[in-house]
Amino acid sequence: MATAGDKLYPNLLKPLKVGNITLKNRVLMGSMHTGMEEESDGFENMAAYFAARARGGVGLIVTGGFAPNRAGWAMPFSEKLSTKKEAKKHQQITEAVHAEGGLICMQILHTGRYGYHPFVVSSSAIKSPITPFKPRALSSRGVLKSIKDYVHCASMAKEAGYDGVEVMGSEGYFIHQFISEHVNKRSDEWGGSFENRIRMALEIVRQTRAAVGPDFILIFRLSMLDLLEKGSTWEEVVVLAKALEEAGVSIINTGIGWHEARIPTIATMVPRACFTWVTAKLRSEVSVPLITSNRINTPEVAEAVLARGDADMISMARPFLADPEFVNKAVEGRGDEINTCIGCNQACLDHVFSRKRSSCLVNPQACHELDLIYQKKSQVKRVAVVGAGPAGLACATVAAECGHQVTLFDAADEIGGQFNIAKQIPGKEEFFETLRYFSRRLEVLNVALKLGKRVDLGIIKAGDFDEVVIATGVLPREPDIPGQEHAKVLTYLDVLRGKKEVGGRVAVIGAGGIGFDVCEFLSHDGDESSVDVKAFLAKWGIDPENEVRGGVAGITANTPKPKREITLLQRKTTRLGAGLGKTTGWIHRTSLKTKKIAMVPGAQYNQIDDEGLHYTLDGEDHVLPADTIVLCTGQVSLRDLHMELEKNGISSHLIGGADVAAELDAKRAINQGSRLAASL
Ligand code: FAD
Ligand code: NAP
Ligand code: SF4
Repeated sequence: MATAGDKLYPNLLKPLKVGNITLKNRVLMGSMHTGMEEESDGFENMAAYFAARARGGVGLIVTGGFAPNRAGWAMPFSEKLSTKKEAKKHQQITEAVHAEGGLICMQILHTGRYGYHPFVVSSSAIKSPITPFKPRALSSRGVLKSIKDYVHCASMAKEAGYDGVEVMGSEGYFIHQFISEHVNKRSDEWGGSFENRIRMALEIVRQTRAAVGPDFILIFRLSMLDLLEKGSTWEEVVVLAKALEEAGVSIINTGIGWHEARIPTIATMVPRACFTWVTAKLRSEVSVPLITSNRINTPEVAEAVLARGDADMISMARPFLADPEFVNKAVEGRGDEINTCIGCNQACLDHVFSRKRSSCLVNPQACHELDLIYQKKSQVKRVAVVGAGPAGLACATVAAECGHQVTLFDAADEIGGQFNIAKQIPGKEEFFETLRYFSRRLEVLNVALKLGKRVDLGIIKAGDFDEVVIATGVLPREPDIPGQEHAKVLTYLDVLRGKKEVGGRVAVIGAGGIGFDVCEFLSHDGDESSVDVKAFLAKWGIDPENEVRGGVAGITANTPKPKREITLLQRKTTRLGAGLGKTTGWIHRTSLKTKKIAMVPGAQYNQIDDEGLHYTLDGEDHVLPADTIVLCTGQVSLRDLHMELEKNGISSHLIGGADVAAELDAKRAINQGSRLAASL
C-alpha cells in the first residue's frame, strides 16, 4: 500500500535487491562505535539499541566495528569476534533485530596502527600521528594469518545470525594501511606496486565470499577520497572498486578521509551531503550498488542525493542516534517530526574518544534504551516549566509524552533560549533543526505554550501546579575588569542578539566555546563556506574534481582575507580552545588560525580605556588598541524566580543553566530536563 512518504521520498523508500535479499528501502544505518561494545552488559544494551532502530524502519543496519583478532583491537580488551563463544553473545543482537523485521550486518574492523594498545600491527612500522603506539610490521606469514582471521570472523558473524558483514577498508584503518603508500613501504608481494598493495583487501573479499556463500551480504567500505597527499589517485580507486566487484562484494560503501587528515568530514560545519559527488564519480565504473555518506541528516537531503543519481543507497549513522524512528516518520509523511542530528559530536564521538558510552545531545535515550524510558504515568500531574531553552523544551516535551498536562512559559517571543543565538554562528545552522523539532513536538503533544510571559509570583501561585520546573538559564558573567563599562565594551549577547556595531579591531576576552563562536561570527563576511559545498571544499583545500592524488589541492591559495583584526585572549596559560570538543576543537582552532585571528593565552587584564585593552603578559605590559572589546567571560545562573518561589513556600526543580551554569552545554541541559521529566 502506498504511503505518504512514497510520494515525498520515492527514491529513498524504494526497495533494493542485493543478491537474493531485498532491502525494504535505501537507508543504511552506518557503523558507529558506541562504547557499549566494551561494557559488561553491553550486548543486552546493544540488542535494545539496534532493535529500536530496526523497529524504526531502517533498511539495513551495520554494527560498530568488531576486531577479527587481538591485534585488531581498537583498545585493550575491545570486543573481537573469533570464537564460537563470542559469536553466541552476538545472537542477542541478531535475534532482537530480526524480531523487529530488520536486517543487520556486522562490521569487521581491524584498526592496525590506529589501535590504542601495545600489540598493534600494520603494513610498515610507522606510528600514526594520532596514536601513541608504534606498530610492528607484519611478516608475510602474518599477513596471510590476518586474512584468515578476517574470513573466520565473517564466518563467525554468519553463525551469530548476521545477514552480512561490512569489511572496513577505509578511514586509514588496517586494510587502508596496506592499500596506501602513505603507510605501506613494503617491498614484498604486499607492498610496492598498487597491485601488491591491494592484494590483501582482495584476498579478504575473495576468501570471505567463498566461505560465507553467495547470499551473505558483503559490504566493502572503500576510501574514495583519502584527503592525504600520499593517498590514492582516482584511477587507483576505480581499479580497486572494479577488482572488489569481481572478488565478490555485494555493495561498496563510501569512505571519506583518513582519521589523521586534518580536514573535517562529518562535523556540523561540513555542509550537508558534502561528499556525495565523490560516490557519483564511481557509479558508471561498477555495477554493484554504491552507498554514499557523510552529513546526510534529513530525508529531503537523502532523497535529493538519490534523485540526482549520486548513489544507490544512503548511509546515515548519527541521525539514528538522534532519532531511531527516522525512517518510519519519513514513510508516514511526518518528516517534520524527525529529531535531526546537528553534527555536533558532543555526545557521540566525543564520548567514545573519552571512553564513555555514546549518546546523543538531542536524544539522551540513545544508547540508554534500557535505563531512560518515557512511560505514561498513572497519576497525571499539572506541570509548569519556566524557560523554553533546551532544558525547558526537553523537560516539557518528555513530561507531556509521559502523559502530564504541561504549560511551558518563556519571557521571549520564541522558543529556544540561547539556541537562537547559537544558530546564527556560521557552521551552527543545524541548531535551527532542533528548534523546529521541539516546536513541532510541543504541538503534537499539546503542551500549552505561553510565550512573551516573564514568570513571577503573580503567574505561578501555590496550588496551581503539582510540579514547577525552573529552566530560566543564565546571564553573561561580568569579569570585573576596571573600565568594563566603557562604550567600546560589549557582551556576546550585545553582538549576537543585539547586533550592536563592532569595529575593525576587536579584542575578544574569554576563549571558551562562546569566545570561539564570536570570533567565527565576526570574521565571516557573507562567506558561505558553512552551507555551500564548493566554498567548503575551497576553504579546506579539497580538489572538487578529485583529480589530484588524495584529493588534496592545498589550503593556502584559498585563505580568505580577514574582515577584521581579531585577538582572542584568556587568562589560563594553556592552549586556547583546549576545553572544546575532543573531535571538533581542532577544527575551530584551525578555522580561526586560517583567518589570522591572534590567540593570546596567559593574559592578565588591567584596564579598558580609550586606548583599548591594557593587559600584562609574562610580566610585560601591553595595550591592544581595540575599537571593540567583546566579553565572553562565562555565565552565571539566573535563579531569582526559584528563590522567590521558595520564599513563598512553592518548591521547584532547577534544571539546565539555572541549576549549574559552569561548563553547561545543551547536552547537559537536554539530558537533565529529560531525566527529570521522566521521573515526575
Ligand atoms: P537557556 O537556553 O538560557 O534558556 C533559558 C530560557 O529561560 C530563555 O529562553 C529565557 O528567555 C527564559 N527565561 C528566563 N527567565 C524567565 C522568566 N522569569 N520567565 C520566563 N522565561 C524566562 N551548547 C552546546 O551544547 N553546543 C554548542 O555548540 C553551543 N553553542 C553555543 C553558542 C552560543 C553563541 C551560545 C550563546 C550558547 C551555545 N551553547 C552551546 C550553549 C547552550 O545554548 C546552552 O547550554 C543552553 O541553551 C542552556 O539551556 P537552558 O535551557 O538551561 O537555558
Ligand atoms: P566557558 O567555556 O566557561 O568560557 C568562559 C571563558 O571566560 C574562559 O575562557 C575563561 O578563561 C574566561 N573567564 C571566566 N571568568 C572570567 C573572568 N572573571 N574574567 C575574565 N575571563 C574570565 O563559557 P562560555 O564560553 O561562556 O560558554 C558557555 C557554555 O556554552 C560552555 O560551558 C560551553 O560548553 C557551551 N558552548 C559550547 C560550544 C561548543 O561548541 N561545544 C560553543 C559555545 C558554547 P580564563 O579563565 O582562562 O580567562
Ligand atoms: Fe548528532 Fe550531536 Fe547527537 Fe552526535 S550528539 S548524534 S552529532 S546530534
